[in-house]
Amino acid sequence: MNNGCTGKLPRGVELLHDPSLNKGTAFTAAEREALGLHGLLPPRISTQQQQVQHVINNVRRKPDNLERYLYLIGLQDRNERLFYKALVENLEELSPIVYTPTVGLACQEYSHVYRRPRGLSITRYDRGRIKEVLQNWPHKNVRVIVVTDGERILGLGDLGSNGMGIPVGKLSLYTACAGIDPAACLPIMIDVGTNNNELWSDPQYIGLPEPRLEGEDYDSLIDEFMAAASEIFPNVMIQLEDFGNSNAFRLLARYRDQYCMFDDDIQGTAGVALAGLYSALRMIKGKITEQRLLFLGAGEAALGIGNLVASAMVQQGLPEEEAIGRCWFIDSKGLVVKSRTDLAQHKQRFAHDFPFHRNLLEVVEAIKPTAIIGASGQPATFTPEILTAMARLNERPIVFALSNPTSQAECTAEDAYRHTKGRAVFASGSPFPKVEMDGQTFVPGQANNVYIFPGVGLGVMASEANRVTDEMFSAAAKCLDEQVSREDFEKGRIFPSLTRIRDVSANIALAVAKVVFARKLTAMREPANLPGYIKSKMYDPAYQPYNGLTNNL
Ligand code: NAD
Repeated sequence: MNNGCTGKLPRGVELLHDPSLNKGTAFTAAEREALGLHGLLPPRISTQQQQVQHVINNVRRKPDNLERYLYLIGLQDRNERLFYKALVENLEELSPIVYTPTVGLACQEYSHVYRRPRGLSITRYDRGRIKEVLQNWPHKNVRVIVVTDGERILGLGDLGSNGMGIPVGKLSLYTACAGIDPAACLPIMIDVGTNNNELWSDPQYIGLPEPRLEGEDYDSLIDEFMAAASEIFPNVMIQLEDFGNSNAFRLLARYRDQYCMFDDDIQGTAGVALAGLYSALRMIKGKITEQRLLFLGAGEAALGIGNLVASAMVQQGLPEEEAIGRCWFIDSKGLVVKSRTDLAQHKQRFAHDFPFHRNLLEVVEAIKPTAIIGASGQPATFTPEILTAMARLNERPIVFALSNPTSQAECTAEDAYRHTKGRAVFASGSPFPKVEMDGQTFVPGQANNVYIFPGVGLGVMASEANRVTDEMFSAAAKCLDEQVSREDFEKGRIFPSLTRIRDVSANIALAVAKVVFARKLTAMREPANLPGYIKSKMYDPAYQPYNGLTNNL
């Protein structure tokens, strides 16, 4: 990787091996001549568009999604601009491969299919020298870090170092969806061990085969990382990703007022789910302040959504107590109620004075929710009986099955529509195909965080914000809802098409930047033309001309 690191323009084979500069067969005759490439490439010169078609043909020819994932990662390693051009132009087809659900499979196989490093690995043995490790990264102007410790990868649990696929995939989406320059993106795995014993006995496992670090040893390592990363990369935004929930809530509370950081599983999920609720309610002409939400799961995703929904209800006039009273949670032990003595602190805000029930169907009958939101990682838990009950209790029940990957979803799109006679407003975490039923076509919405975090990141980056706040996620949710069109509604979708994601992200970035300037969360002066300024910060994966390249280096 040379771009942005040295002043010398690489030539010949060295240039072909630099993924940020390589154009492969698209180097023009003049470039081939000037850069010592003549004869190193086959004679026929392609356009980037022809190369994109070649990539798509190859992707489609692969026998399965894991092979498609490996092919695309290989392309990213060889020719970054082509990778992003293909991804941006074919996001609906390729994002389920570079991200959920295929990335889950890729993480499970990560050690076995490992080819070359991407990002940084930090371990407990780096204690005291994390700054040094960060300084080994070749790019100096890092603006977004996505970091995980691999403890709760999607709904798949503790995958240790194999979880590296997640920060890598998320950052690809930052670039594809919001145009964050790939040279400004840094994926990091903090390998603190794993409690997944199967990995210990796998001789090919790439991580540390030892138990997870816990307690003060763990906290001080993460403290050192946060301080070092914020010092080595001033203006960086750090996204915590797929930490186990006993750490995620704690770390967010510990760092949110100290660093420019957020937790996507808690806050990003909340943003996308709130946007989905706003749109669902616009579709069925309901009011957020009149909803009763029942969450299956009381972890990072569910509580993050509950907290943001409650604050949206308060903003729209409900007293806080009433807003909290409209959000109900079930965890692995049953309904979250006051009489329970086993509740972690982050659940207590939503523990109501109500009889305890163990079973979801009983709770649905007792509470009569208008919406059920699954974020439990437990597949098929929204049974036909539960869906039928929701349809009996509501003219248009809202059903969100958010658990990822697809195999963990609380119900399929088809089940949701079939058991509610097509009346459900449905969204899922991983994509489901369209459903044809009784001559009607239903297009399920995908409540994918990808609608939120790239735009938030772009807004934070462009405005040089020093904090990431919940108000930014509320603004992002509102802005996302506003971008769901009448045509989207006509197809039954409550999120915009991914084909519009770059515009959607630019608008979210604008909404976020406005919060940043209004709350004075930056030392920067607000540019006169903020929308134009934000757009000017977006990386365009089209090849740059040779002269442009020389200027860049
Ligand atoms: P988490 O581990 O923090 O929480 C899981 C929760 O589910 C816990 O409260 C646990 O007690 C509960 N649970 C487990 N088994 C249960 C059962 N049988 N019945 C009821 N509750 C049960 O995990 P998380 O970060 O909240 O993620 C949960 C799921 O949501 C994952 O599958 C994740 O992929 C998905 N998710 C989706 C999105 C999205 O769609 N945009 C975003 C984030 C997370």
